[in-house]
Amino acid sequence: MIKVCKFGGTSMADGVNMARIRSILDRDPARRYIVVSAPGKRYSGDTKVTDLLYETARDVKERGHVGDAYAKVCERFQSIAHELGLTLDADALLSECARDIERENSAEFAASRGEYLAGRFMAEYLGVPFLDARDIVRFTANGRLDACTYGLVREALKGIPKAVVAGFYGADGEGNIRTFTRGGSDVSGAVVARAVHADVYENWTDVSGFLACDPRIVPSPAGISALSYKELRELSYMGANVLHSEAIFPVREADIPIRIKNTFRPDDEGTVILPSSRYRPRARPVTGIAGMKNFTVIFLEKSLMNAEIGFAYRVLEVLLRHNISFEHMPSGIDTMSFVIESGQLEGGLLDTVCEEIRAAVAPDRMNVFSDVALIAVVGHGMSRNVGIAARLFAAIARTGVNVRMIDQGSSELNIIVGVDNENYERTMRAVYEEFFKN
Ligand code: ADP
Ligand code: ASP
Ligand code: MG
Repeated sequence: MIKVCKFGGTSMADGVNMARIRSILDRDPARRYIVVSAPGKRYSGDTKVTDLLYETARDVKERGHVGDAYAKVCERFQSIAHELGLTLDADALLSECARDIERENSAEFAASRGEYLAGRFMAEYLGVPFLDARDIVRFTANGRLDACTYGLVREALKGIPKAVVAGFYGADGEGNIRTFTRGGSDVSGAVVARAVHADVYENWTDVSGFLACDPRIVPSPAGISALSYKELRELSYMGANVLHSEAIFPVREADIPIRIKNTFRPDDEGTVILPSSRYRPRARPVTGIAGMKNFTVIFLEKSLMNAEIGFAYRVLEVLLRHNISFEHMPSGIDTMSFVIESGQLEGGLLDTVCEEIRAAVAPDRMNVFSDVALIAVVGHGMSRNVGIAARLFAAIARTGVNVRMIDQGSSELNIIVGVDNENYERTMRAVYEEFFKN
């Protein structure tokens, strides 16, 4: 039995928490490979080491050397070394990292040092080897994971009973350090799990599993004991950031279940995430709700759009020209909407894009809604249940909120609604009440 365990930023925040990790590992000898994040927040209002390192990268760009932010990184690691009674020379290691950050002058390099140092410290504390992800996690030139990584990780861990691997980063073919997007240690953990053919990928965080809604919006939402990979993908992509939305791919291909566990309540069951073949949908039609703010919806209407060959193609060409991706494209017979993350349309680009779309397809009507939040209601159970959409819209209507957009995935696994940003929290709470309190 092999378990790969990834510990997130809160679990790694200080020496006391790292001691908790050791006792979690001691309880189960199958917990052999440990993937760590950089130390995160110790209390609300604290700053994550990764954020301090991005600030450090900006200091280096502007002034050529590390500054106050790096001094704070040093304090964090020195106090961890002290709390854990480590014998490694923390000062020397931190000075070496500072020199490397100045020499490399790259934000990705600087950010990776949080996981690198955390990994070095953790390995020393546990008395097991440390594996630098630079040598085993390979990125392609365009920043994607290179599939050769699995062989490299497997080879490196062969015959090693226990080891610590740094999360979040790797290197491209030229040896330059690259990172995943934020929260990417979850992806590293999944990659290691797949490489060693783990029986389970344990993802240790600060909540007792996946909750039916963001706990920062709905206080103490119901827990979810089991999820399918597909539901996880929908929920994490739509903002339930317990797990990075790309962490699912490596393990799904190898049918490895993920278990989300709470470092601070290790006896809680947590959530298990399973392939659809092994997953039995529960009685409740809705499994979970997630959402995100700040989208722009471009709505187009044109009579006989359905018969106009190449309509969508010409709109997409405009987006392609400006390197803009879209999240959703709900359509009717004579209508089509494009839902785009607003950040991509800043600096006057929205106006340019709208003008070009007008010139390309001459719509009868074009409406643009900015500041839209998307809310996804997700669950396999929805497809067998008539009336879910009706309940959803009735619940939203009762709160007096206008729906700006609706999209139902063809898999019937989700319904996505768009509301104004300012109504986001209120709508989430209303939808949660409807499906989980009744
Ligand atoms: P880690 O540092 O361990 O990777 P994250 O902060 O990335 O942890 O993810 C855990 C956090 O995700 C929780 O503390 C919680 O605030 C947030 N979260 C958002 N949506 C959900 C949800 N649906 N269920 C559980 N946690 C959620
Ligand atoms: N430390 C990185 C971040 O804060 C990666 C991670 O924690 O997963 O985004
Ligand atoms: Mg995370």
